Amino acid sequence: MNIHEYQAAEILARYGIPLNPGIVCASPDEVEAAAHQIGGTVVVKGQVHTGGRGKAGGVKLAHSPDEARQAGESILGLDIRGHTVRKVLVAPGTNIEREYYLGVTIDRAARGVTVMASAAGGIDIEEVAHTTPEKIQREVAHPTLGLHPYQARRLAYTLGIEREFANGFAKIALQLYQAFIAADASLAEINPLVLTKDHQWQAIDSKIVIDDNALSRHPDYEALRDLNEENAIELEARAAGVSFVKLDGNIGCVVNGAGLSMATMDAIKRYGGEPANFLDVGGGASAAQVATALRLILAEPQVRAILINIFGGITRCDDVARGLLEAMEAVKPKVPFVIRLAGTNQEAGRQILSDAGITAVESMPEAAEQVVKAAQRAA
Ligand code: GDP
Ligand code: MN
Repeated sequence: MNIHEYQAAEILARYGIPLNPGIVCASPDEVEAAAHQIGGTVVVKGQVHTGGRGKAGGVKLAHSPDEARQAGESILGLDIRGHTVRKVLVAPGTNIEREYYLGVTIDRAARGVTVMASAAGGIDIEEVAHTTPEKIQREVAHPTLGLHPYQARRLAYTLGIEREFANGFAKIALQLYQAFIAADASLAEINPLVLTKDHQWQAIDSKIVIDDNALSRHPDYEALRDLNEENAIELEARAAGVSFVKLDGNIGCVVNGAGLSMATMDAIKRYGGEPANFLDVGGGASAAQVATALRLILAEPQVRAILINIFGGITRCDDVARGLLEAMEAVKPKVPFVIRLAGTNQEAGRQILSDAGITAVESMPEAAEQVVKAAQRAA
């Protein structure tokens, strides 16, 4: 789950990370009033669930309430990479001497929580990781003892931060690590973490991504959710108890089981196709769930073909087949589809489908090959 910068900043502030709290505004009037209240130079920042706001004109310095109002007018309503700005954060402006990057995430290759830091702060860290990976320093935290203070200091020194500022930097790295763990985050980052002209450390831009699997442990996070920022189809899927993740390809997938869904996407790629989504209808694969799944997939205009891959275990293939027919009747997909049905009562299941004029295949590679060809013909 993504949250806004101002919400992430509130969390980080609780762990002692120095930052300038701001005022969230939804209109130019509010921006002007906030700038007046704060006084001096302020920064006006669009609150959207995407980075690179600066480059897109979504971050502006203003030297007076009037300028702040103008900045608010230009940023509110702005489209940043498909996200419409509905709120801005107005915060005291900072005199920046240097910008650093500091982030905490889970590094699967290192099998641990990893703290990353770079002196190339402020800019897109994915870009840095891609073009100059040597500019990113890493420390892997111990799985039970956590991040050691010496590791945090080592990060500071390897970035070339002077002795007098290194402890301040290390303290923030430890605080960010604590916040990451306590928040059940999958990412916590400060970009930029700045050294101000008067030599104070300050977090200028905060980002936290919360691990969806931990939401049940944090009922208070529900209030942080911004439905405007979430994919409408993913929302509908969540309401229906279907796991759905939108992807970039053109082959829709309806599968029961997360593992089989992953394998199905691999099989599609193996035959030169690209999945349009990950979709797990869950164990039951009832007619209603399959119908919802089909509707979700067909709402994506780029879908050219659908692969329905159901393995009957406790759910019997004949029940699934009846459910599929019901779902097809309800949704009437206009794109070609391929059904692979295997497992308990597969013969009976396939018979029900073939009586209705639908051929189901047994093997997954065969189904993947067929659906890729169907999508290529349709494209
Ligand atoms: P992002 O582009 O979405 O990552 O938004 P940021 O909040 O990180 O802002 C982008 C850039 O704007 C920062 O890297 C800074 O260089 C600059 N910036 C942001 N806030 C201030 C500020 O208070 N004072 C100054 N001088 N620059 C700022
Ligand atoms: Mn930033």
